[in-house]
Amino acid sequence: MKKYNFNAGPSILPREVIENTAKQILDFNGSGLSLAEISHRAKDFQPVVDEAVALIKELLKVPEGYSVLFLGGGASLEFCMIPYNFLIKKAGYLNTGTWAKKALKEAKLFGEAVEVASSADAGYTFYPKDYECPTDLDYLHITTNNTIYGTEIRKEPEVPVRLIGDMSSDIFSRPIDVAKYDCIYAGAQKNLAMAGVTLIIVKDDCLGKAPRQIPTMLDYRTHVEKGSMFNTPPVVPIYCALETLRWIKAQGGVEEMARRAEARAKVLYDEIDRNKLFRGTVEKDSRSLMNICFVMNDEYKDLEKPFFEYATQRGMVGIKGHRSVGGFRASCYNAMPMEGVEALVKCMQDFEKEH
Ligand code: PMP
Repeated sequence: MKKYNFNAGPSILPREVIENTAKQILDFNGSGLSLAEISHRAKDFQPVVDEAVALIKELLKVPEGYSVLFLGGGASLEFCMIPYNFLIKKAGYLNTGTWAKKALKEAKLFGEAVEVASSADAGYTFYPKDYECPTDLDYLHITTNNTIYGTEIRKEPEVPVRLIGDMSSDIFSRPIDVAKYDCIYAGAQKNLAMAGVTLIIVKDDCLGKAPRQIPTMLDYRTHVEKGSMFNTPPVVPIYCALETLRWIKAQGGVEEMARRAEARAKVLYDEIDRNKLFRGTVEKDSRSLMNICFVMNDEYKDLEKPFFEYATQRGMVGIKGHRSVGGFRASCYNAMPMEGVEALVKCMQDFEKEH
């Protein structure tokens, strides 16, 4: 039976990305050695990093003056590296979910960090829009897509300060205005690669201003100066990222990724809104195109487990909602084909007919 991978992360990657990475793990560039057993300083590996960096700059139209880094530690390490490197006097955070809250918690270790807006009281069911943003912030930190709650902003907010963006779960799903950010970071394991590498896009002239000593490994300048090679970078995940970037380019770039994301999300949200058994969990204008969250309507609550089992039997993988939300979450990252969403919709329709 065909399986459709709706996992929230690590999550679906294009089949050819997996196949090409697997081939290189067996025999890297015909060298007779595995990609997993070569030095990151081997002459054939530098071109991998160079091509990946060049593709990121091309796909996201990164302006001059920014560096692209591949680091370890996951997006979670960036929660602390961001204030370490950028917090001078006062930072602002939008509290839009679990990950945003964790990022704010780390910033408080370094100085004044304020919650500029929050949707916590409403169970994170919307993305805050009409808030007053202080003008004296070093940066406003935003989580562009809230993986657990299924809210997203697909356009930079109009604020009078510089942005820092956690784009772990929606990077490469749409064009972004990089010039508005001092730093963008993303754990790879959604739209980019297997887990193990974090992508950072950082504005060079913002570095070195924070009034504190920064341990070498946590200082972005170290990694900018050494081209992500200060220590051993995660070689296989970086190669996997390169394959995904080539795939995105060949498919038509982030504009095409956005078109597909909109088309997939429309099909699934339309069904959620139509089907008497289900309802969406977030306000319509905050709905994520990446993580589509829904629950059973109150009168059909008892059908949650049966629907989960029914869908699982039909090849739907990973649709259980995060434990803090419950219900269902269908993650529809770049590599999810429309066919997968249509299969899930068919499941919802057939299940409705039986109840
Ligand atoms: N930010 C967001 C938006 C996430 O979805 C996640 C993980 N799913 C993280 C941060 C944490 O990432 P990591 O596990 O790579 O530390």
